[in-house]
Amino acid sequence: MGWKLSIAAIVLLVTPAFAQAPSPQTMDATMLTLLGNAKVGKALDDIKADDARSLEEQKRITEIPAPPFKEKVRAEYFLKRMQELGFKDASIDSEGNVTALRKGTAGGRPKLVLSAHLDTVFPEGVDVTVKEKDGVIIAPGIGDDSRGLAALLSLVKAMNENAITTVGDVLVVGTVGEEELGNLRGVKALFRDHTDIDGFISIDGLGISRVVNQSTGSHRYEMIFKGPGGHSFQEFGLPSAIHAMGRAIAKISELQTPSDPKTTFTVGTVSGGTSVNAIAAEARMAVDMRSNSTEELLKLEEKLLGLVKQAVVEENARWNTDKMTVEIKLIGDRPAGIVEMDSPIVQATQRAVFGITRGKRATFGGASTDSNIAMSLGIPAVTIGGGGEGGNWHSRNEWYKPTDAWMGPQSALITVLMLSGLDGVTKPALAVRQAK
Ligand SMILES: [Zn+2]
Repeated sequence: MGWKLSIAAIVLLVTPAFAQAPSPQTMDATMLTLLGNAKVGKALDDIKADDARSLEEQKRITEIPAPPFKEKVRAEYFLKRMQELGFKDASIDSEGNVTALRKGTAGGRPKLVLSAHLDTVFPEGVDVTVKEKDGVIIAPGIGDDSRGLAALLSLVKAMNENAITTVGDVLVVGTVGEEELGNLRGVKALFRDHTDIDGFISIDGLGISRVVNQSTGSHRYEMIFKGPGGHSFQEFGLPSAIHAMGRAIAKISELQTPSDPKTTFTVGTVSGGTSVNAIAAEARMAVDMRSNSTEELLKLEEKLLGLVKQAVVEENARWNTDKMTVEIKLIGDRPAGIVEMDSPIVQATQRAVFGITRGKRATFGGASTDSNIAMSLGIPAVTIGGGGEGGNWHSRNEWYKPTDAWMGPQSALITVLMLSGLDGVTKPALAVRQAK
């Protein structure tokens, strides 16, 4: 199928520099202009033709382990691929992110980041061998975020091979530390080192119609319960760290949280004790709390921390002592935020999905992704899907099926071109942010 759409009804695009966010009509016209452009059409066709190679790349990336804080080998592979695609200056920054600048014609701005994350949730030693059965591919991390990385490479390949020149700069990034304890360290460093970023896109997720424009905030804690410990028989009467923690968990499990804004909690891991016949001297648990609203997150946090302290008081009271204590450590802090629906980045994404799928509407929601940091800094950001379908994320049985997978990089390409502008054809919809 070609990409020529009817643009008869569209008023010819007049292209002055946008003083304000472009109107919805202008955004519509920009999308149709791009889809009707021969060079862009060729790039879209090339992306589709690249589908099988891109899937092989996705599998290859998956089989390079990238545990939290140990993304280096995968980063080096990604760097090598970027260099092969023509980015002679691609490099790995001080935090471990792979960055490559694709210069536009306007001298640097607006600057759009296009990224996917290198790390997985899986620790060292997990078997990352890709297995296939009946067209379904199974491997830890095959979707999250190997798909994003493969989609990113496919899109950049099509742009470079077709000499597509943008007006604004596009900074292509493979980030580290997106998952769990990585605490978004990659993007935190990126925004610290680059103060001229005007927009941020993360390809993280499958399909293309679900778009993240809200960042789910999260607070994560490790709670370490400590007591004297002793023999279960001889020293019976001492408080137990495990019992205290059990009391805390029982209380936490009864908490009520709103479904809108979605607010959640779980005690994710527990450990402790030394043997079956010892009163536990130490027990620890990790707690995850999330919300699309900072206010609700803080409310939940206050309640939950109160319950933990109360559990310790009760364990001490039970044995008439004060020897049980709890140490509460914040181990994860991701801000909540929202990008308004009328923001050009949301508008562009919406139109790209509509244009590529020929009529499907994007749905918008919240999640915790690399976009959190941009959103918390007030920088327009979205997290978009890389195409295909899958499930069992963050589990060893993660699966992926490449259904219409090419639509991921295709939709991302249109989004990028709407935001960054196609030289000589369309203006960037992304505004240059003013220095504060
Ligand atoms: Zn991810």
